[in-house]
Amino acid sequence: MRCAIVGSGLASLAAYATLRHGGIEPGDIAVFGPNADPTEPWRMRAASIRQRRMRSESDGHLAPASFPGLAVRESLRRATPAPLFASVTNRYHPSVDAFLSHAEEVRARSGWEQSFRAQRVARVRAVAGGFELDGGGPFAHVLVATGHPGLAKPAGLPEAVHAYEPHEYAPRVAIVGAGMAAATEWLNALAAGSEVVSIRRREPVRRPLNVPRPLFSKRGLAAFHRLAPHDRATKLRELSTPSYPPGAAWDRPLERAASEGRLRVLRGSPEEAQRKYGDLQVILATGFLRGFTHDALLRDLVEAHALEAHDEWIALAPDSTVPALTDDVRTLSIAGVAGQWAFPAADTIAGAKYAARAFLRRICRTR
Ligand SMILES: Cc1cc2nc3c(=O)[nH]c(=O)nc-3n(C[C@H](O)[C@H](O)[C@H](O)COP(=O)(O)OP(=O)(O)OC[C@H]3O[C@@H](n4cnc5c(N)ncnc54)[C@H](O)[C@@H]3O)c2cc1C
Repeated sequence: MRCAIVGSGLASLAAYATLRHGGIEPGDIAVFGPNADPTEPWRMRAASIRQRRMRSESDGHLAPASFPGLAVRESLRRATPAPLFASVTNRYHPSVDAFLSHAEEVRARSGWEQSFRAQRVARVRAVAGGFELDGGGPFAHVLVATGHPGLAKPAGLPEAVHAYEPHEYAPRVAIVGAGMAAATEWLNALAAGSEVVSIRRREPVRRPLNVPRPLFSKRGLAAFHRLAPHDRATKLRELSTPSYPPGAAWDRPLERAASEGRLRVLRGSPEEAQRKYGDLQVILATGFLRGFTHDALLRDLVEAHALEAHDEWIALAPDSTVPALTDDVRTLSIAGVAGQWAFPAADTIAGAKYAARAFLRRICRTR
């Protein structure tokens, strides 16, 4: 057993499919995590906010090769070039159903279940020639993809429901937050006939993807990687401003509801909203806890090996590896949100594949 993936979500599946495509056999890979179905954590969150279309585009799929993307597949399936034309102008967003059914195909083809072990890992330790996971192993190459460490729930709101947990809409709702989940929830609640108070601290940025497009390109990334640690942390903080895509599909229903008095914006707290507008159902579109210190496994890893970190980020090499624990014979990589030091959009499908491909390249170099 040479490789291990810790975590069993989308980033894990992307890495697994990439390793398999690179010729590594299921018997040489162990995947540790609680989810036999790697789409489950994501699917539950997307279903809770009733997301129907992906924010990502044609290349937002989990297959190891970029081509064919989801637009090509949909064009072939529906026998129309429309998805391809939309893709050329960055207007193609696959449906959540299409994304998930393709993810299931990738999982079924990959041999995932042969490598999957239903086990959470508490401890990763560097040992000669690799890493022990909870004392087992050693594994020469380990990719940690443990996802977000939990939902962010502001204190003092015991009645509030998080947007990523199943919920319905009361006749009057306060939605806290201003990012993609909040915007989706404004539209959901309005469509359900509710009156909405949008509670926000900051005005959202309007951008198609969750970070500016250049940060998905080699050139944009090279500039990001040249930033000194302090500036890189500042940049990552800036990028965390809530955002959702521009476009009439968002604006029109919101403008209409505002003109009818069914949508109000409050720069304040849920308590202020309750005082001002009376009893409201509070929905927290406040995302996730931020920073590796909330993830017990990553915090322990950083402390045990005195790894370099800046604020909430573990310092990584541009190829998503932990420099102090990666050399000619072993690799420790981090994928998913905890990999933002290497790839600011680490918490996307594109980010998962960035880390996965670099991980495979490292393994190939040590073969
Ligand atoms: C509602 C929503 C919509 C989104 N839409 C898009 C989109 O349209 N396009 C896009 O590109 N991205 C989108 N994203 C981002 C997308 O979720 C992330 O890219 C992806 O889910 C991250 O996958 P992950 O594997 O890092 O985390 P997860 O899918 O959360 O998986 C992490 C896994 O690791 C497990 N784990 C945690 N700790 C341990 C441990 N110690 N040992 C073993 N296992 C552990 C967890 O239980 C979980 O199974 C969206 C996110 C959300 C929430």
